[in-house]
Amino acid sequence: MMQFVRFKKDDAVSYGEINGQIIDRIEGDIFGEYKVTDESFSFSDIKILTPCLPTKIVCIGLNYKAHAAEVGLELPEEPLIFLKPLTAALKHGGEIILPKMSKQVDYEAEVALVIGKIASNIEPEEAKEYIFGVTCLNDVTARDLQKKDCQWTRAKSFDTFSPLGPRISTGIDYDNLDIELIHNGVTKQKSNTSDFIFNSSEIVSFVSKVMTLLPGDIIATGTPFGIGPVKSGDTIEVKVESVGVLMNTVR
Ligand code: MG
Repeated sequence: MMQFVRFKKDDAVSYGEINGQIIDRIEGDIFGEYKVTDESFSFSDIKILTPCLPTKIVCIGLNYKAHAAEVGLELPEEPLIFLKPLTAALKHGGEIILPKMSKQVDYEAEVALVIGKIASNIEPEEAKEYIFGVTCLNDVTARDLQKKDCQWTRAKSFDTFSPLGPRISTGIDYDNLDIELIHNGVTKQKSNTSDFIFNSSEIVSFVSKVMTLLPGDIIATGTPFGIGPVKSGDTIEVKVESVGVLMNTVR
């Protein structure tokens, strides 16, 4: 397993590779050519940014079997996809801003796949080589607006509604990861990606047959049972095994 972050030190933005408590600065692009330099920082020296710069954030609707069973929905025949705009992206530690338009904003803990190379019309059997790694994502949703609108764009797209990070982990089994959401210190969602309706390869293949995926693009893989509302002052943590904890506060 390798772990990467994107960070700011003074005015310079770089990728870094994590080695225990130390971040080794990378020169170049983790999705292309790069080298690990001998410049190292501790976490207290740097500011963590979103782990990559996607051209799109694709999200999958219902994708956990237990969640489907508990809400009484039949298993979908194909993934439901929607998009979140890049302006919704929020770094680890950033504040989720509650919009005036909504009376109910919910968290949704998700495992996010990070695409490593251009993927168009690929088959599930070849999908693994296009996945660079995984990170944590919170698919923050204005639930009242989602129910009111036919399209989910408004409900899913407010600024700060897509916290992601803090790091990207590579070389792990993306279809067997524990995922947890912790709301003000209390666990509210707890599952494992082995409960996926569509596994990571099927998801990447499906989306690549709709739109070309570019390096750094994000696919959020759906949320397990236990979603719930947030209020100002809350702390929300999305914890994914082998990745870490994405923490954000709400205002
Ligand atoms: Mg979701």
